[in-house]
Amino acid sequence: MAGEPQADCLFCKIVAKEIPATIVQETESTLAFRDINPQAPTHVLVIPKVHFPDAASLAAGDPEAAAEVLRAAGEVAEGEGVESYRIVFNTGAGAGQTVFHAHAHVLAGRGLEWPPG
Ligand code: AMP
Ligand code: ZN
Repeated sequence: MAGEPQADCLFCKIVAKEIPATIVQETESTLAFRDINPQAPTHVLVIPKVHFPDAASLAAGDPEAAAEVLRAAGEVAEGEGVESYRIVFNTGAGAGQTVFHAHAHVLAGRGLEWPPG
């Protein structure tokens, strides 16, 4: 069923606390943790606890959870004390997506080029 935990999904395992992560915020519907391979001084991943493969399918299947991810991303940025930051949802392998459980990257703490690579 859409949104149900997937046995082979890394981020579902982090939600289930079967795999450790450095958690920075947890709400009823979201989890935020530090990226294991940070690309900026602040690099936090914000994920919905429900499983959807990418941001668009999350927004279509569970709009409330999608909104909560964005709200949590803003709260994480505030908690990190950064005024400027970037929220990124890589979608599809060609755009660099490697984990197919929707997640927002919250990046800050260095110059962020625009347009991005
Ligand atoms: P993406 O490439 O957009 O799918 O993002 C997946 C992100 O998950 C990458 O930035 C990885 O560094 C990160 N990542 C992979 N495994 C872990 C883990 N166990 N804990 C935290 N972050 C992870
Ligand atoms: Zn998952």
